[in-house]
Amino acid sequence: MNYDAFYAFSYGLYVVGTAGSDRLHGYIANTAFQVTAEPPQIAISCHKDNGSRKAIQESGIFSISVLHEDVSKELVTVFGYQNDPTVDRFAGFSHMIGVTGAPILLEDTIAYFECRVVKSVDIGSHFLFIGQVEAAVELKVSKEPMTYRYYRKTRKAASPKNSPTYQAKDKLTPSDDKSGQQCWLCPSCGYIYDPAEGDPDSGIAPGTSYKELPNDWICPVCGISKESFIPYD
Ligand code: FE
Repeated sequence: MNYDAFYAFSYGLYVVGTAGSDRLHGYIANTAFQVTAEPPQIAISCHKDNGSRKAIQESGIFSISVLHEDVSKELVTVFGYQNDPTVDRFAGFSHMIGVTGAPILLEDTIAYFECRVVKSVDIGSHFLFIGQVEAAVELKVSKEPMTYRYYRKTRKAASPKNSPTYQAKDKLTPSDDKSGQQCWLCPSCGYIYDPAEGDPDSGIAPGTSYKELPNDWICPVCGISKESFIPYD
C-alpha cells in the first residue's frame, strides 16, 4: 500500500464542538463531510480516547466550525494539540452557544453547522457520528476555507496521534534549500524545524541552527520544549 496516496485527499480543517455534562469540549478535525442531501446529514470521525467522544455520546449534539486559511497558530495549538482534559478550550476564544446547546467558534471561522446525532458507528479506534443538520450559518468573512492539504504545506505540521489521518512515518518534507543543516522533528505534532526557514513568527531568522535556538524556544504548533525535538532525517 502506498500511504502517500492518502495525502491526495484534500479535506478541510474544522473545530468540532460539543457540550459535556462537565464543560464544553472541542477538537480540530479534518474529517467532516456531508453524507446526504435530504435531510442534510454530516458525518464526523472521533477517536475513542478523545474526551469529546464521550461528551458527544452523552449530549447527542455536535457543531462544526469551518476554519479559514489564516487560522491562528494559537487556535490550532489549543484545539489540536493541548492534552489537558480539564481545560475548556473554548474559554480563550470568541464563541457562542448555538440552538442545540453546542459551542460554536466565532473567530477564524467562515461557516458553522449544528447537528443532532442520528447514528453512531463503532469503527475500531474511532466512532463515526452521523448528525442531522439543525443549523447552517455562513459568517460574513471573505476568506478561503482551510484545507488539510494546504495546512500541511504551509504549516508543516502532521496529524496528531488521535486523528483518523495520522501516519506514524509522516513524510512532511523540509524546504528545498539545501543548507546542509540538520532538521529537527517535534515528536508531539510532527512539526519540522528547518534551519533554512527558521521560525519567523517566533522571531527566529532563517539560517538559525537548532543549536542556536534560544533555550526557551517552543514548538510553534504544539508548544512543547526545544529539547523534546529529535533529529529528522
Ligand atoms: Fe509540536
